Amino acid sequence: MNSTPSSERLHITLFGIRNAGKSSLINALAERNIAIVSDRPGTTTDPVSKAMELGELGPVVLTDTAGLDDEGELGMLRVRKSLERLAWTDIGLFVTPLHEPPHAAEYEALEKLGASSVPLAIAATHADLPAHPRKEAWIAELEAGRYLLSPLLGVARVSTKSGTGVSELRSMFARAASSGKLNENRLSCSRETGLLEGLVEQGDHLVLVTPIDAAAPKGRLILPQVQVLREALDRGCSCTVVQPSELARALSALLRSPRLVITDSQAFREVAAILPPEQALTSFSLLFARHKGELSLFRAGLERLANLQRDAVRQTAGTKPIRLLGIEACTHSRTHEDIATVKIPRLLAERTGRQVALTMLREVRDVSIEDDFDLAVVCGGCMITRRRMQTQLARLDEAGIPAVNFGLFLAWAHGLFPRAVLPLGESAQTLLTI
Ligand code: SF4
Repeated sequence: MNSTPSSERLHITLFGIRNAGKSSLINALAERNIAIVSDRPGTTTDPVSKAMELGELGPVVLTDTAGLDDEGELGMLRVRKSLERLAWTDIGLFVTPLHEPPHAAEYEALEKLGASSVPLAIAATHADLPAHPRKEAWIAELEAGRYLLSPLLGVARVSTKSGTGVSELRSMFARAASSGKLNENRLSCSRETGLLEGLVEQGDHLVLVTPIDAAAPKGRLILPQVQVLREALDRGCSCTVVQPSELARALSALLRSPRLVITDSQAFREVAAILPPEQALTSFSLLFARHKGELSLFRAGLERLANLQRDAVRQTAGTKPIRLLGIEACTHSRTHEDIATVKIPRLLAERTGRQVALTMLREVRDVSIEDDFDLAVVCGGCMITRRRMQTQLARLDEAGIPAVNFGLFLAWAHGLFPRAVLPLGESAQTLLTI
């Protein structure tokens, strides 16, 4: 609990053919043995991730992947799994042995990597051996900007034996992160808006409402609550943390109104009923959607909800069930009042007067327009990176499926939209015109 959560780290993934030197390079970058190095091709079979501090770059997750030239049915599956990592990669590190000619699988893989929006760095390994002229020529073409659509951060000639080029790679990553280069793509991935940035000032008092119910983990708060609390403290704010049942008493003990009340979305209605209408109120989930730059991406989902409700009022809704796609990015044990599988479908049915047919997924991979979902509701994604979440939302957008997150859905369902997004300032503007 005392280290940076994986979702807040920069994710760097190494791609390359078998025996390109990926595992040696990961060890050299980390300055310790975290990957198994062997001369036998195919030693790394599944992606292996390791969280670490990388000098001036700070907290990162380095991922070693299986060789992109892996063979056979199983090998092809591994290659697919390796390339799937692009969805949550902030920087792709393409590793190619400088002393060998370009491999057919490298052309193919680079085409896929280069067509993504993921910024790439190239590590030409075995730089202590004589370079192969065809590989040198290929790298020169890549440096000149041929074949790649994604931004090229640079090429480093690396020898893990002598250590040449390793610090150059680290500096390349750090420069890219600090220059904002990683933000140039639509699926931007680096510096995010702080959870409370622009919303509070030093000396403010905040009230955090955290229900401890059957769904709460034993003996601890959940990650979003801990992160908001920590940021409030970092910003010089004081906090009262209460359960909904203690909220009224806690408020009456305060000498002045809190700057902001932040609640678990599931307690929205209960909390709103206790607060005076002028009290600024939002949820952990909405703060995270703003933090990860997703708020504006939920506009289409809110419009769909407004249309569904309008149809219900006009009694023009028809009898077809609403096809709802629920997406939860991690597994957890479900309770009888589970938010995704019980509460949201029930509330949607109550608000629209229609039955709801629910499909649950962990990750959006194979949803297409033929699936014909009316709406997707996505979890807050506290365990995954901003890039991975935005990739999910982009896939839903491509498939024509409007989406909202759990927090926005619950705010809407409890009649707290737009109140719950008003405290979020400019980032919520696009939602307020619905
Ligand atoms: S389901 Fe989503 S919001 Fe809930 S803990 Fe997992 S990643 Fe976080």
